[in-house]
This record gives sequence, structure tokens and C-alpha cells, in this order.
Amino acid sequence: MNTQSTTSPDSTPPGRPGEWNHAPEQLPIAVSPFFSWPPRPRRMVAWVAARWFALAENAILTGLAVLCWAVFQPSLETTATLAPGWIAAIWLRNIVLMLIVAGGLHLWFHRAKRQGDRLKFDPRELAKKGRMFTFGGQVADNMFWSLASGVSFWTAYEVLLFWAMGNGYAPVLLPAENPILFAAILFLTPVWISLHFYWIHRLLHWPPLYRLAHALHHRNVNVGPWSGLSMHPVEHGLFFSSILIHFIIPAHPIHILFHMQHQSLTAATSHTGFEGLIVRDQNRLALGTFHHQLHHRYFECNYGNLEVPWDKWFGSFHDGTQDAHVQMKERRQRIANG
Ligand SMILES: [Zn+2]
Ligand SMILES: [Zn+2]
Repeated sequence: MNTQSTTSPDSTPPGRPGEWNHAPEQLPIAVSPFFSWPPRPRRMVAWVAARWFALAENAILTGLAVLCWAVFQPSLETTATLAPGWIAAIWLRNIVLMLIVAGGLHLWFHRAKRQGDRLKFDPRELAKKGRMFTFGGQVADNMFWSLASGVSFWTAYEVLLFWAMGNGYAPVLLPAENPILFAAILFLTPVWISLHFYWIHRLLHWPPLYRLAHALHHRNVNVGPWSGLSMHPVEHGLFFSSILIHFIIPAHPIHILFHMQHQSLTAATSHTGFEGLIVRDQNRLALGTFHHQLHHRYFECNYGNLEVPWDKWFGSFHDGTQDAHVQMKERRQRIANG
């Protein structure tokens, strides 16, 4: 676990002065209040409200899942038989979603630079050139792996689940029969994803797997929206496997859509390199987290997200302060010294 550093807690961003163009106003980074003692009911209500009921990612993603189900989703009767037509339609839907979300955010933040440097974490631009990148540049590299491998795995897992549900191999939940369970599963999906992601991500940092697969994602020391789903196929296979829980936990197709779109589209939104989207100078949609930005910069910290404080519990938390930075360096030094 962490050792205590000699300085008092502070809110200075980590690293060298000027290393960060922007850091959150609130440091140290706050994690979900649902796992602290004593309970803080007001913080819990604020946490849920900010993530579900404001102009927030989960609210938007729920709306998107319902829309996709109502307008673009083949029936379970259709999906019971594997056929190129409906599979191609799902693949196309996912390509379009990825192009709109990652492409749109890329154009907004990094091409048109609609908000300049405001809320931008890293002062540097995305890499135009680099020998480590497929096709020689960061954006082309990231788009290729996201679309060719990422969307294919995303589609394959959806097809597997819809096929299994159509044939009764995976349990189907109807909202009319059990609305409370329907809502509960929707609410708990990001929590499950957080748990799954933390452990899969730590596994990916095991040196043989890191070299084989995860190094591809870490070509991105500074990140943009297309970096999020830019992964090696082995990593895509592991990353999206969280959905397999629905071979046990009953689900409606809306849950499957929400889960898979959450995995793939928040990969783009969490890697924008900006803390939020500024609309009309003040309204903002929280997007990237400093938490994951620090993971890309320093590697050996912040494997999870903020939904469940796995990093805090397992000693890998960098809360964004200079104090935490010193502790992380000491931890590295201890590992290096054996
Ligand atoms: Zn990593
Ligand atoms: Zn990442």
C-alpha cells in the first residue's frame, strides 16, 4: 500500500511545473462516494444525479440504446438465425455510431479546435508522425484499430448475445414483467463494467500481455477521442467480454445495446484529452477524466475508472496531486529495487 509522504496534502498538479495545461479544480480526484464510510447521502445523491439525470453520458447513452432498439434493432426472432443481412446492419450501425462520436469529438476538439486549450489536459498536440504508429501517424493508426478491430469485436459480441437470446441460451428480461429489475440492471451496468475493466486492465499490464497487446493502446501517451478504442484485437476480445455476464444475468436487448455502446463510445469520450465540452461558455458535458489521462502519462497507476475505487483499494491510485505523484515514484522505485 501507499507510504505516507512527508509533505501535507495539496492540490498542486503532479509532475513538472507546466506539464499540464489544465488540471481539475478539485484535486485530489474524487471517486464514487458509495464505497466510503461513514455514508455521505448527499454526495451519493449528487454522484448519481450528475451521472444519470443531468446532461450526462449515462443519460445520453440510455436514450441512444432505446433509440437504437426502437428504430434499428432486428427482433429476437430474426436474430435466432445467423444471417448476413441483419449482422451487416448491426455492423454498419456501430461504424456509424463510432464515426459520429469519435469522429465528431475529434473534429470539435482537435481539428476545428472549437474550444482552444480550455479544459485541455496536455499542452501538446496529437502526434502527426511517429514510427510506432501504423500508417505513421497517431490519428490514422487510432482510426484503423478502432474501426477495423474495435467495431468488429463490438458487433461480434452483440451478434452472439442477440443470437443466444433468440434461441433461449441467454435469459431474456421483459421490462413490463419486472420493471424494477430492468432498471436495477441498467444502473448496475457501469459498476460491473468498472469492476471488469479494472481487472482486465491490470492483466493487460502483465509484461507478456502488455508486449503482445496492450502496448498498442499505450502508443498514445497523449490521447484523443480515437485513442479510446484503439486496441489490439486480443485486448478487444478481453475488453468487451464483460457482456458475457448476460449469459447468467437476464437482460433485455436494450441492456445489451447500452452495455456495448457504453464500452465502445465512452472509450472515445473518456480519451478526448479534455475535461469537458463547453457549450455556450458555461454548460459543459463531463468527458475525459484526468484519472485516465494520468494512466496514459505515467502507466503504473489508475487502471480502473471512478465508478468503483479499485485503484484506491489496491494501492494503484494517483489522485492527481503532487503528493500522490511522489508516492507513485516511490512505489516504482521499490518495484525496480525488487
Ligand atoms: Zn494501460
Ligand atoms: Zn486508455
